[in-house]
Amino acid sequence: MEKTNKPVWFITGCSTGFGRELAKLILGRGWNAVITARNIDQVKDIAEGYENTSLVLPLDVTDKTQVSSAVTKAEEVFGKIDVLVNNAGYGYFSSVEEGEEEKIRNQFEVNFFGLVNMTQAVLPGMREKRSGHIVNFSSIGGLRAFTATGYYHATKFAVEGLSESLAQEVAPLGIKILIVEPGPFRTDWAGRSTSRTPVKIADYKDTVDARMQASQKGSGKQQGDPVRGCEAIIKAVESDKHQLRLLLGEPAFKMALEKTEMLKENFEAWKELTLSADFPEPER
Ligand code: NAP
Repeated sequence: MEKTNKPVWFITGCSTGFGRELAKLILGRGWNAVITARNIDQVKDIAEGYENTSLVLPLDVTDKTQVSSAVTKAEEVFGKIDVLVNNAGYGYFSSVEEGEEEKIRNQFEVNFFGLVNMTQAVLPGMREKRSGHIVNFSSIGGLRAFTATGYYHATKFAVEGLSESLAQEVAPLGIKILIVEPGPFRTDWAGRSTSRTPVKIADYKDTVDARMQASQKGSGKQQGDPVRGCEAIIKAVESDKHQLRLLLGEPAFKMALEKTEMLKENFEAWKELTLSADFPEPER
């Protein structure tokens, strides 16, 4: 395969949902896509007809050896990676009290450490060419938290914090970070991809259990269209008016604005108490 002048997008978690739709859109534009999945049999069809512009690779983002060889291979084949999309992720549903350690740790392994593995692997190549984009999938759940998904929110809040720092570290090197924050979208997220620890403590029936049931019931009926969402992501990456965050869908937009109001109200309500914690003027 020849080295290319067209954009090269490397996408994690392409079997279903956002990753799959994004890979299809990128190839449809005549660009190059590195299509990755834990099981490549689930993504081979995406590459059909695009043999010269696609590369299909097995990739579990928690496996550092696989991460390193996938990035090396992509750089060998296309000569560069322009856009890394850290899309792979899933939701773990449990009350905080009933969370199971192994499941909590795995939630962080995939949603946070997987993203770290990928980011560290592509940065040397992007720094060398002084350009690149890293698209980090957070969620509206990276800005706001609800019952039943405390551990999921913890991973996505972690993604937000890391991305905000990273953006400042790599901006002078020509690399841009985009944090994507979807609301509810019609993918496999709330269906087959979800991991659950059932509520056994009756005290959480009306809060945690109720949200678990509602999420399961709403699966497949979410307002967000993953294809339109991915088109918005491509536009944001291509735009010369860069912003750090991209909310996706109306529910995310509303919930994010509510959160900014909630924070403002909270900070203002305790302004006096907050300011009382400083040394008085002459001692500063
Ligand atoms: P999805 O259809 O369930 O897709 C998730 C993808 O992640 C699948 O391809 C899955 O692969 C992959 N994945 C899971 N663990 C992996 C691992 N260890 N290594 C590599 N790939 C792995 O759901 P989605 O909505 O498209 O999710 C994509 C991203 O959007 C996630 O980060 C999610 O948290 C975020 N998000 C989704 C929503 C929503 O409502 N849909 C809202 C906010 C944020 P397998 O097929 O092998 O499981």
